[in-house]
Amino acid sequence: MFIETRGNDGIKPQKVPFSYAILHPSASFGGLYVPETLPKLDAHFFENAAKKSYKEITLDILNLFQIDIEKEVMQKAVALYDAFDDAHEPTPLVQIEDDLFVNELYHGPTRAFKDMALQPFGYILSHLAQKLNEKYLILAATSGDTGPATLDTFANKPNINVVCLYPDGGTSDVQRLQMTTQTSTNVKVLGIHGNFDDAQSALKTLLASSTFKEALEAKEIKLSAANSVNFGRIIFQIIYHIYAYIALLKQEKIKNGHPFYTIIPSGNFGNALGAYYAKKMGLPIEKILIASNINNILTDLITTGVYDLRHRHLLQTTSPAMDILISSNVERVLFDKFGASRTKACMEALKEEKIYTLNADELALLREDFEAVYCDDSFGKEQIHHYANKGYIMDPHTATCLKAYQALKAKPLPCVLCSTAEWTKFAPTMMNALNQDTKKYSDKEALVGIEHSLHVKIPASIHALFNQPVIHDKVVHKEAIEAEIFEFLNLTCKKECK
Ligand SMILES: *Cc1c(COP(=O)(O)O)cnc(C)c1O
Repeated sequence: MFIETRGNDGIKPQKVPFSYAILHPSASFGGLYVPETLPKLDAHFFENAAKKSYKEITLDILNLFQIDIEKEVMQKAVALYDAFDDAHEPTPLVQIEDDLFVNELYHGPTRAFKDMALQPFGYILSHLAQKLNEKYLILAATSGDTGPATLDTFANKPNINVVCLYPDGGTSDVQRLQMTTQTSTNVKVLGIHGNFDDAQSALKTLLASSTFKEALEAKEIKLSAANSVNFGRIIFQIIYHIYAYIALLKQEKIKNGHPFYTIIPSGNFGNALGAYYAKKMGLPIEKILIASNINNILTDLITTGVYDLRHRHLLQTTSPAMDILISSNVERVLFDKFGASRTKACMEALKEEKIYTLNADELALLREDFEAVYCDDSFGKEQIHHYANKGYIMDPHTATCLKAYQALKAKPLPCVLCSTAEWTKFAPTMMNALNQDTKKYSDKEALVGIEHSLHVKIPASIHALFNQPVIHDKVVHKEAIEAEIFEFLNLTCKKECK
């Protein structure tokens, strides 16, 4: 069962099953749902795991969670990994240094790790909506990768409509086109004047608005979310961390039970939270090393215990999926360590005073599991250049992890670095890194340039984007979002009524 990070308000149910938590992800006082307990993985789990595929491991772990989803539904959801580049190894583990392994999480349809969770999650959510005979509106705010992955998973899915908000100018051309060329009629994509935090706060305002909810209820449409506030995503993000360890065991790079480091390029902290839960379940992670870019609020929290938004402005970087100041999933870690009332107090202080401060004991507890460091764009580009010369191509988000690898790996243990996107989504930055210039390339010329100079293949789905018509071309102010959504829902309704 699932409980709430800010305690219960006496109106919402005290404990809810998985299906409820993913259909209605907003908990009491604006909190989030978390599992009441986590299952434990014993030594036998890892001994037996060596013989199993990614899909089998996933089903085993879902089974341990005892969630209220039928086995056949989970099997079908997990079968979506078959469409990844390699059905047998959806997340290849590639060695790039004696003690450094890249967990490539981007081999799904939209070329970012968001597919790992959103592909099966979308199937499960649509299944639940159909079973209950209910219609849902999914609101998604994206800094560039959640949007395409959400649209892909819900495209043409019955009983689901999707509205996706992205910061205009805050994404790459490839990311924008992955959204704006979407042809399925159950989705709407809107550019927002502002940055990702503006898009996310607009979404949170809508999710919390009772008038908006009532207006939707009048049309018998319920509201849900596909951001990593939804535990339905987190559950699938626990699994690839566990699988990376199994891959290390299979490759005989580690002995069963021996610890390793994991490095995670972090924004909304969903990926890191997955690693934290995996560690609590028994995965022998020495430390979770958090990589930030110069929007280094997570690094500040983990090194000083202070989460301070007061003098911060969001800075645009070459790792835009990490350009975040309000990192939603930190709340789940606070709850796990300090309980609901402390979490509620911190979250309220953040909202009202734009700052919260952990005391020394609390900070020490946080640092039992996490260390953090940030790097700037020029360091990232140097790393891209360095590894490309050695024959390994990594995207700008993945490159931020090299700082953590160099600065934070205190013990001589194997290190797993989470690679969160394929370089093809950020080709102009790649070109700048490879050529060591600052020229402004278009995505298309950079893709073609790199394809030829490094002799790499670009997925057909990325090539095709540039020849498809743009269907969603609207860019609006925050205040206009609600009206746009109503217009869109009326339109779908009219079509269905005919
Ligand atoms: C979403 C994303 C991140 C950040 O992941 P969180 O789980 O939000 O911390 C990092 N890199 C890329 C490429 C992403 O798409």
